Amino acid sequence: MNASAPALHSRDGPVLALSGGIGGAKLALGLSRILPPGELVVVANTGDDFEHLGLSISPDLDTLMYTLAGIDNPETGWGLRSETWTFMAALRALGGETWFQLGDGDLATHVERTRRLEAGETLSRITDDFCRRLGVQTKILPMSDDKVRTRVRTAAGWLAFQDYFVRRRCEPAVAELAYEGAAAARPHAEFLAALADPRLRSAVICPSNPFLSIDPILALPGVRAALTACPAPVVAVSPIIAGRAVKGPCAKMMTELGLPVTAAAVATHYGDVIDGYLVDHGDAGTVACPGVAVATAATLMTSLADREALARDVLAFADSLRRSRAEAAGAPA
Ligand code: GDP
Repeated sequence: MNASAPALHSRDGPVLALSGGIGGAKLALGLSRILPPGELVVVANTGDDFEHLGLSISPDLDTLMYTLAGIDNPETGWGLRSETWTFMAALRALGGETWFQLGDGDLATHVERTRRLEAGETLSRITDDFCRRLGVQTKILPMSDDKVRTRVRTAAGWLAFQDYFVRRRCEPAVAELAYEGAAAARPHAEFLAALADPRLRSAVICPSNPFLSIDPILALPGVRAALTACPAPVVAVSPIIAGRAVKGPCAKMMTELGLPVTAAAVATHYGDVIDGYLVDHGDAGTVACPGVAVATAATLMTSLADREALARDVLAFADSLRRSRAEAAGAPA
């Protein structure tokens, strides 16, 4: 975003990705497979986190961790592959709360995370350790170690995020969103350090839900300013393809918030945070956002090859922006 372009320090460099759960994890996986180990940091939304049955649950962190460990459930997009459900069945038999599905293996993640949080460890340290044990080489960083909780205002009043998202299946119309705790939360120090790193190749905003997954990250003090001042190009991928969300409530929510369901509306929403915007080939020519370069790619990720191809396209786009910025500033590309 920085108009005064720095000289490029190396052809490549680390990549930072901002991500929610399912959509974000698809691109994060693609990036992790095409980048050298240690060159990707994924910053995860923790606005979806909540406490349930005495457990601390971090859905987006876990989706990223399971996906990058290759143990994700490809059918649901959340939870573990080859999961069993003995706990839920037993809980149901006892008349317990069963609206939030917790598989037997997944439960271990929440039990162990809760124990370690209660013992005083930070969420980022616990995540680091889980990733190491599961063989994940990508750094997955919670956006903050402080609590942020997304809330949704509906006709039924303000709802906790998981009450809206899972218990009520996104049925109530959304009038407003709030990220409780964000104003006082500290963005993770490594997140801010990565954004200021002159070696950074690109900051990528994954095709995640802008309101539920990316805005909580942007709501942390200093993050918008750090993205604006970031020496590397900030590139977002549209979660909207041809007027539809691939999955989840993004399109429904945009309509309820009075926005057109278009890739362009998402670019406008990000505004001056982004330098580049990647839309699907089918949306070519539909986005004109002042100060934002637009490129097209095949952005629907169905296969592993799609994820890798989109990751390559995102980086090629970011590299082209970096080169034109260096040329404009007279620095060697
Ligand atoms: P959540 O936190 O699990 O809801 O996941 P995210 O916020 O990361 O992702 C949800 C968004 O991802 C939705 O708005 C989808 O439209 C978008 N999405 C999912 N799969 C794809 C895909 O293959 N391509 C693109 N462009 N967007 C996708």
